Amino acid sequence: MAAPWDDVLRDKSAIQEAAWVAVDAALLEGVLMRTEGEPNASDVSARARSRDAFGPGQAVVNYAPFTLLPSAVPSALFEQAYAVQQDFNLLVDAISQNKEFLEHTLASTVKVDDFTARLFRIHMQVLEEGLAQSVFLGINRSDYMFDCGVDGTPALKQIEINTIAASFGGLTSRTVAVHGRVLKVLGKSKEASRLLPNNPSKGLALGIAKAWELYGSQSAVVMFLVEEVQRNIFDQRCVENELWNRNIRVIRKRFRDVFEKGSLDDAKRLYMDGQEVAVVYYREGYVPKNYDQQNWEARLLLERSRAVKCPDIATQLAGTKKVQQELSRPGTLERLLPGRAEAVARIRATFAGLYSLDMGEEGDKIAAMAIADPDRFVLKPQREGGGNNLYGEELRQVLEKIRDSPERTSYILMDKIKPQPAMNYLLRAHSPLQVSECISELGIFGVYVRQGKEMVMNKAAGHLLRTKAIEHADGGVAAGVAVLDTPYLV
Ligand code: ADP
Ligand code: MG
Repeated sequence: MAAPWDDVLRDKSAIQEAAWVAVDAALLEGVLMRTEGEPNASDVSARARSRDAFGPGQAVVNYAPFTLLPSAVPSALFEQAYAVQQDFNLLVDAISQNKEFLEHTLASTVKVDDFTARLFRIHMQVLEEGLAQSVFLGINRSDYMFDCGVDGTPALKQIEINTIAASFGGLTSRTVAVHGRVLKVLGKSKEASRLLPNNPSKGLALGIAKAWELYGSQSAVVMFLVEEVQRNIFDQRCVENELWNRNIRVIRKRFRDVFEKGSLDDAKRLYMDGQEVAVVYYREGYVPKNYDQQNWEARLLLERSRAVKCPDIATQLAGTKKVQQELSRPGTLERLLPGRAEAVARIRATFAGLYSLDMGEEGDKIAAMAIADPDRFVLKPQREGGGNNLYGEELRQVLEKIRDSPERTSYILMDKIKPQPAMNYLLRAHSPLQVSECISELGIFGVYVRQGKEMVMNKAAGHLLRTKAIEHADGGVAAGVAVLDTPYLV
């Protein structure tokens, strides 16, 4: 999978020159993130404004980390990932409507994992009351790595599918221009012209706009539900701008705001500060630390409402790692997608080995297998956002400790995917320019809209390539491990 710029990788002065250009291009294109020290301001820092000892103008915005060079991606696998995305959209949507499947699949998990249990309780409560929502909007991102088999042929293997708050569709819409510029500076104009256009933010916005339209109230707004700490606001603004361009009003609120100012009317229409909300787009709410008691109450209020939630709570549950593991059981996909044998085959082809650690003989065997050969596996709890999985010696130790306890059922086990590394430079503010051995993860954004039983939109909406140095087993861009990249098809 060599890229056609391996020849310039060691040319220090050309690389340095290109890196300067790259950083300016990133700033110019808006590949931006707020800094860790000032995650909630985009202008000069609050401390500098208050004229204390910090002096004038601390940087509060910088470029989001990215690779200097695009990374080679096998075109056949890239196409395969796009081709299966509509199938995954259908699958996630089918799971979200299948009460029995979710109940059965998550039964062991909810006993030991409080977070999943709380989500599940809201799901059940909303179903018991009867769904007020009739339009459904899914925005997901299916992530893959290119597993290098024994014969060295790379295969597309799914890492996970993110059904809530899948991010970086905005910023990645702007990295193509940056990488195009870098290649030109390095004398690779022909290669630059081969970079594919990519605009997930537009695709995501089209889905949100469709849901807003079907909700059917011209004066209603789209609400982005955002975190307390908003470092990645520019990524969200890219999607937001696409909506404003279509004359759809967008507000940004936190759970806290919903708790204080949200209400439902008799028809369960959702109001914020007196404004009717048509669509709630969650960029928050996927990890336990997003919730205190008030935030749980706010979540329940949103879920009970008629507003289109992206995702609704059932779709969030469909994205849990336990569900992913159950999908790999023989026969499960066939039951969820009856009469769609081709879709089932396309989906199954992307699955790596996934194993249940539920109590019983099967789970005992799996635990023993992993303890005996920990480097073959990844141990995953029901968490999102990076940095939670266990590998190698740590995996062995943890599993040994919990192998006879029901606690083990809060994890799933997965075959470790081993991609072929490639050399690249990871550009991060305040970091020296040095070449690293890297691996990449490809994400495909999926968008769908369903009205009642009818799918009215089902699309792949663009891609995201993230690259990290091989010494990091885990973690994404927001976790500070991976950086944004652009695929160069080979
Ligand atoms: P999260 O919900 O935290 O993003 P993931 O399942 O995506 O959980 O795992 C986080 C990261 O760990 C991935 O981005 C990838 O780098 C690494 N990872 C996860 N599963 C595997 C696997 N089976 N093989 C190799 N690396 C993996
Ligand atoms: Mg992930």
